[in-house]
This record gives sequence, structure tokens and C-alpha cells, in this order.
Amino acid sequence: MRTRLIAGNWKMHKTAAEAVTFVHEFRKVLSPSTSIDIVLAPPFVSLFAVQQAMTQEDRFAIAAQNLYWETEGAYTGEVSGSMLQDLGCTYVIVGHSERRHLFGEKNDEVNKKVKAALAHGLIPILCVGETLEEREAGNTQAVVKDQLLKGLSEVGVENIPTIIIAYEPVWAIGTGRAASVEQAEEVHAFLRATLSTEFGEISQDVRILYGGSVSPQNAEALFSCKEIDGALIGKACLDPVVFAKICGLADLAST
Ligand code: PEP
Repeated sequence: MRTRLIAGNWKMHKTAAEAVTFVHEFRKVLSPSTSIDIVLAPPFVSLFAVQQAMTQEDRFAIAAQNLYWETEGAYTGEVSGSMLQDLGCTYVIVGHSERRHLFGEKNDEVNKKVKAALAHGLIPILCVGETLEEREAGNTQAVVKDQLLKGLSEVGVENIPTIIIAYEPVWAIGTGRAASVEQAEEVHAFLRATLSTEFGEISQDVRILYGGSVSPQNAEALFSCKEIDGALIGKACLDPVVFAKICGLADLAST
């Protein structure tokens, strides 16, 4: 049985002070008995503040939104896996579509980031997803397979169950137009079948999240699907009450 995971990607939102306020408010509204894994991914500059605001009782962990694959050196503006580990990060988002499409990140760079994350004890949340053009051209499976297998290239099979995959159709991100349960289910099943062919039975342990306009309105239906192990959430994670509601729905679906 895979534990459901809900991750909130804050993107470039919230100052350090606002991040701390979020933690205090989220703690108040999140069920203390939640059985799912919950992850907050603030911007780099708020990670320290969030980590400092967290207590042992908190039922959530922190993620970075990106990393660089070298450990240290003359790489102006970059942040390494060892720095993130030192800050208390448990997870790191890798290959988000905004990194791929706005900042030109390629599959080989995504792969270096996945390997660097693992080398520093961080759990990569590897994002894959097709654009609308790619879907309409019938290329969804080819695109996500390429992103998945290139992203996981040379990653030891023993690391596979640790890695989290997020299927995020680019056309659903920030558009208010989520994939239907059937569309998501189809791609999730394809991703798991691809993992199974490549890595064997161990792939059954990999959590595959859905991302793209998840909200309290559509979360219940998405979480009722056995292929969907949780969600990576953008807009709806910025409000602690809304994010806690989605976490609650994921928790409910797990019981
Ligand atoms: C995202 O950016 O990962 C995302 C899923 O955003 P939104 O929930 O706003 O579509």
C-alpha cells in the first residue's frame, strides 16, 4: 500500500515572513492525525525560515523547488543538494514544466539533478508531462516515457521506490483546466507500466502524483482513482485552509 503524498509548490510566492505565517496557520487547520505525507516547497530564500518555524510535532516536511547537480563551486545563483540537505529539506522538485519550458531545462540536466538529489539523501519529485500540442498530436505517451526514462537514466534500481513521479500535463498547470480522472488514470497507468518494464516489480512502490489545477472541488474524484497516489499542487497550496482541505480529502481517500 503506497502512502498518499500531497506536495504544495509555492513557486515564486511568499516572503520569509509570509512563509512563517503560513506554517503557523497550516498547523492550526491540518488534522493532527493525518496519515498521509505532506510536503511544502517554499522558494529557496524561505526554506530556512520554514525549517526554523517547524516543530517535531509537525506532520509535514519541506522540499526545494530545484537544485544544481554540482556540490559546490563557481556556479553563480545555483544551490546544491548538500546545501538543501543541510537546510533540512527532505524532498526536491526536479524537472517542473516551468523549469523545462521557461528556463530550457533538458532531460539530461533533469537526470543530473535526480542523481544529485539522491546522492545528497534528498527524495526527488520528478515531474513529467506533455504540452497541449503534444497531446493533440497523439504524442502524450512518447513524451512522458522519454522524460521518465531519461530522467531516471543511470539511477540504480534500488533508488527507484524512493523516487516520486509527478504527472503534470502542461496544459493543466495554472489553467483551471485539470485533466479528467480518466485522462490522468490512463497516463498514470502507462507510467507505472513503463516503470515496471524498466525496473521490475519494485515499481509498484513508486508513488505517482497528479498535478495540474487540483482544487478542493476536483480532489476527491482524483483521489478516488487507485492509480493516483497524491498530488503536486500550485495555486491551491498558497492558502493554508485550502491546502489543508485537499490534504484532508487525500487522507479520507486513504482510509
Ligand atoms: C504546478 O505548478 O505544479 C501546479 C500543479 O500548479 P497548479 O496547481 O496551479 O495548476
